[in-house]
Amino acid sequence: MSETATTHSTPSAPPHATWHALTPEDVQRQLQAEPGGLSADEVRQRLALHGPNRLAPPKRRGPLLRFVLQFHNILLYVMMGAAAITAALGHWVDTGVLLAAVVVNAIIGFIQEGKAEAALEAIRSMLSPHATVLRDGRRLDIDASDLVPGDRVLLAPGDRVPADLRLVEVRDLRVEEAALTGESLPVDKDTRAVAADAPLGDRAGMAYSGTLVVYGQATGIVVATGSRTELGQINRMLAGIRNISTPLLRQIDRFGRILALTILALAAATFVLGVLWREHAPAEMFMMVVALAASAIPEGLPAIMTVTLALGVQRMARRHAIVRRLPAVETLGSVTVICSDKTGTLTRNEMTVQRVVCAELDVNVSGVGYEPVGDFNIGPHVVDANRHPSLSLALRAGVICNDAQLRDDNGVWQVVGDPTEGALLVVGQKSGFTQHIGSAEWPRLDSIPFESQHRFMATWNRDADGQSWIFVKGAPERLLDICSFECTDAGDRPIEVDTWRRMANDTAARGLRLLGLACKRAEPAGAQLGFSDVEHGFMMLGLVGIVDPPREEAIRAVQECQRAGIRVKMITGDHVETARAIGAQLGIGVGKPAITGAEVALMDDAALRRVAMEVDVFARASPEHKLRLVQALQEDGQVVAMTGDGVNDAPALKRADVGVAMGNKGTDAAKEASDVVLANDNFATIAAAVREGRAVYDNLKKFILFMLPTNGGEALVVIAAIMFELTLPLTPAQILWINMVTSSTLGLALAFEPAEDGIMRRRPRPPGQPLLSGFFVWRVVLVSVLMMSGALGLFLWELSHGSSLETARTMAVNAIVVAEMFYLLNSRHVLASVLNREGLTGNRVALLAIAACVPLQLAFTHLPVMQGIFGSTDLHLAEWLKVLGAGLMVFFIAEFEKFVIRRLPITAKLAVV
Ligand code: ATP
Repeated sequence: MSETATTHSTPSAPPHATWHALTPEDVQRQLQAEPGGLSADEVRQRLALHGPNRLAPPKRRGPLLRFVLQFHNILLYVMMGAAAITAALGHWVDTGVLLAAVVVNAIIGFIQEGKAEAALEAIRSMLSPHATVLRDGRRLDIDASDLVPGDRVLLAPGDRVPADLRLVEVRDLRVEEAALTGESLPVDKDTRAVAADAPLGDRAGMAYSGTLVVYGQATGIVVATGSRTELGQINRMLAGIRNISTPLLRQIDRFGRILALTILALAAATFVLGVLWREHAPAEMFMMVVALAASAIPEGLPAIMTVTLALGVQRMARRHAIVRRLPAVETLGSVTVICSDKTGTLTRNEMTVQRVVCAELDVNVSGVGYEPVGDFNIGPHVVDANRHPSLSLALRAGVICNDAQLRDDNGVWQVVGDPTEGALLVVGQKSGFTQHIGSAEWPRLDSIPFESQHRFMATWNRDADGQSWIFVKGAPERLLDICSFECTDAGDRPIEVDTWRRMANDTAARGLRLLGLACKRAEPAGAQLGFSDVEHGFMMLGLVGIVDPPREEAIRAVQECQRAGIRVKMITGDHVETARAIGAQLGIGVGKPAITGAEVALMDDAALRRVAMEVDVFARASPEHKLRLVQALQEDGQVVAMTGDGVNDAPALKRADVGVAMGNKGTDAAKEASDVVLANDNFATIAAAVREGRAVYDNLKKFILFMLPTNGGEALVVIAAIMFELTLPLTPAQILWINMVTSSTLGLALAFEPAEDGIMRRRPRPPGQPLLSGFFVWRVVLVSVLMMSGALGLFLWELSHGSSLETARTMAVNAIVVAEMFYLLNSRHVLASVLNREGLTGNRVALLAIAACVPLQLAFTHLPVMQGIFGSTDLHLAEWLKVLGAGLMVFFIAEFEKFVIRRLPITAKLAVV
């Protein structure tokens, strides 16, 4: 032992292997870890010495390699192959254009990957893990990367252990160490030292970085940080965020690849037929099929789709919704039911005690917020709380049986810890009673912390006379079960349970959150306070009614969701009457029954499925009720978003179509199980995310509707030329110019399209609805034909009126590009008219993109260099006007089509945008 001790003689360089073999006292001594935690100075020094508690980020691929990898793509192989053949045929210009197109494509891919990476990086930094520590005698919530050896870390259920810890105080701690040992069953922990050579799984006195607390509480001293921890990696939480893709994007990717292969096969067949059957020269035929392939393949599609998604994810992050699993962006748009917690999500979580009910007193408390200023009123009279022993004892119980702290930060009163407990500290201080954990008056010997499952907290204290007391606070129903007496100013007497129940219901019906307070003068049966010590013989002291007003923005968000065809359900641990009253203020479950978790427990799955849709307020519900509810709703065909924060919420969050965890009060376990994390715990953020999810989906659809007709139009032009044995109206180089330069520039603008005005007045998108519906195919075919008519029409007209082939081709290219510019505006709304101010100017990026294409097209047409490359030639004003006419024709016919479709009776049912 002494040998081990010398190994740890300085706190500066702890070799990590044998901390488990030391007693907690030795560890504390060696690391100079005071019971009140390290001082700020000490932390600074140690941080400088040990570095942040973070791992070196995984090595990224360098930019060069990333760029080179962009060429590893079937489409680019084909284009490079074509370039090789054109070179062999001596078509140097085409070779050059093909190669340039390959490079441009790789650059676009490189940039989009960078954008997607940046979006993910932003999310990663927002999800950095936190830790609760004791420093300078204060409890603080800090970034886990700021932990240093010797820090005193407090563990609670749902926490990911933030560094390697030697446990010094343990209360029923159970830790799941699968991340480290592969063993998924939680192991019990204590503070024992074990043999130095004990295997990792047997080191009961250690909690290792990256493992998960599933039950109980503990305090541990940090013994290793960063890469010196056993696991050597703490960011498992980010494992879900690897690459930017979703089912829809994969579907599109697959669609793109199949399309490319089909087109290549067709092109090959056309080549063979043309050469063998029609006896065209192979070189000429080859250029035809290259044109066909280049025209029909939507080169920019996957890249721009990814950027659209990345931008959506960034927009959501800006609105405080951090998307952990990207498919959730799509799912959000089809959510039909949102099940939300109440406290802190729908309500402000700023608690104020308004009413205290004792056996013979009904007291109203004035004052708002956490400032401890206010009076106690009985009827119209202000009273001194300390003149009423029953009231005074109840208030004391609320302060003593409490883990929160009340702080005055330069006149701003703040609560550290649970706001419900904070409210009790405030009301206690209004009566002049304050108390700190560990203070000499009423010292605390042990406690059972609050957990949602058992809905109470208990502490064991001693008073100034050395008398032993057990205080309990919790849900009144729980307390009434264990109380035999009630406290009055004149002493105790047998309890009148019915009166208390009536008062509880009356308080809850006003929307107040309820807490009961009770005590017993007794010693626990054992050395520690156990559940068997809080089973009977208590004295009821009082009921406390706490207001927690609904968030204004949540009221609006609930309305917005309801208008969007989304049912909002409230699932809360609170009393059923409180839940109903708050629900009514928020517009949830008005005029409908509310049910409790106990009632849910009595129902079988079929019965639950029947009521799940009917009922909107579920009270006194616990995590397993949430899970059953999600299942019942899903069986009913609903797409469910479910919120949660506790470790036990994880199964329901995983099961839900969109699991939503709270960023502030949520545990790591809940965050890891979720798809979306709300950085501000606010219900309104969910509504905003749904809106954004719908917008992203819309924009993807709009982009496809924009992109495909360009390819379709070009392909039709080439096919017509091949079928009618015309000269090619568009050369491969010209086609690549359109696809790679103008289409991509214009199409990208749709990724910036703001959400449609009526987006939250639409019904949710039916899940599984195919993206390319019959209507979409129709629209693509129609616009393809329009584009083809404009380009081919002008081409043939010009040729027949004696223009040169170059002029006719230049006009065909410009006709397609100008038509695209106009059609970009059409594409801003799938069905709504754009013939208004918003429609024409609502998306600045679209206007910029169009403005950017004008000089590009002028350069293409008039610059000698470009004329050399693309075979283009100058156009006169009259010719430009004809080109403009072709574009306007596409624009107005496309608008007219929308007008007709909007009037079709089936349109409403199609639920198209
Ligand atoms: P939700 O956040 O799910 O809407 P909730 O926060 O009201 O609900 P819980 O925190 O599980 O649900 O609280 C349930 C009940 O437990 C409360 O109504 C209250 O009576 C009691 N309670 C809450 N916090 C404490 C606490 N710190 N100590 C003792 N009892 C508590």
